[in-house]
Amino acid sequence: MPELPEVETVKRGLEKKLKNFIIRDIEILRSSTIAFPKDNKEFIEGVTHSKIGKWQRRGKYLIANLEKYSKDAKKKNNPYYKDNGYLIIHLRMTGYFNWLKNKNTPCKHTRVRFFDENNRELRFVDVRSFGQIWWVKHGLNPKEIINGLGSLGPEPLEKDFNLKYLNKEISKRTKPIKSVLLDQRIIAGIGNIYADESLYEAGILPFREAKTINNDELIRLKESIIKVLEKSIGSGGTTFSDFRNIEGANGDYSMQANVYRRAGEKCKKCNNLILRMKLSGRSTHWCNFCQK
Ligand SMILES: [Zn+2]
Repeated sequence: MPELPEVETVKRGLEKKLKNFIIRDIEILRSSTIAFPKDNKEFIEGVTHSKIGKWQRRGKYLIANLEKYSKDAKKKNNPYYKDNGYLIIHLRMTGYFNWLKNKNTPCKHTRVRFFDENNRELRFVDVRSFGQIWWVKHGLNPKEIINGLGSLGPEPLEKDFNLKYLNKEISKRTKPIKSVLLDQRIIAGIGNIYADESLYEAGILPFREAKTINNDELIRLKESIIKVLEKSIGSGGTTFSDFRNIEGANGDYSMQANVYRRAGEKCKKCNNLILRMKLSGRSTHWCNFCQK
């Protein structure tokens, strides 16, 4: 599942490739991929002729500003663009974008296709089909339309993710620390890989009751989260079977993973074997000697 570094990598790719991309045509191959508005026709009519502007990432959401071509009666024949709200995407388990310069046949997992006038295509592919796309028109508030977006906690790479905040959130929780890290309402963007890697880096067991974590450990945890995320962004997101950047390439972080998907292999610090167990339904990887 793409997490913060992968989504950030996708965002950077989209920013680079889609400069002045004007959507001339949209083809929806799986109706339910469009989460809002529910009516596909309304989505197509609303989004067509829009220019994709600035991209942002919030947690695991990708958000693009749209501007729509419009003719101003006063400025005859002088086209201009007006705010057309946002195109918002959540990749979920297996969603990814493909950027295609020439027209070619879509694979069977293709869900939505956006074309410009030169038939260049931004293609949304999603094997497991949990990915979602919203068009939030001008005047509507994305945070009200998309619950998950409205309830997101702070971004781990921004300054409101600080010790004071973590102390407040973590000191009152009795859940395992890993479950707290995965809760998007507490911290935005961390999923299974980066929770396991950050806890290993910080030397904290994933099963520890959150409120038992002391101040020094919390400092280490905060720094570890930032370090692990920044390192992965720097290498273009993790390599795992279903993640591709928009040009179809993998990142190379899995080469450097310390615990994730390394069960049965030697810990790089102490040579004992990395263990794996399910925690709240998620595979959890750790070293029993290096993590307390
Ligand atoms: Zn170890």
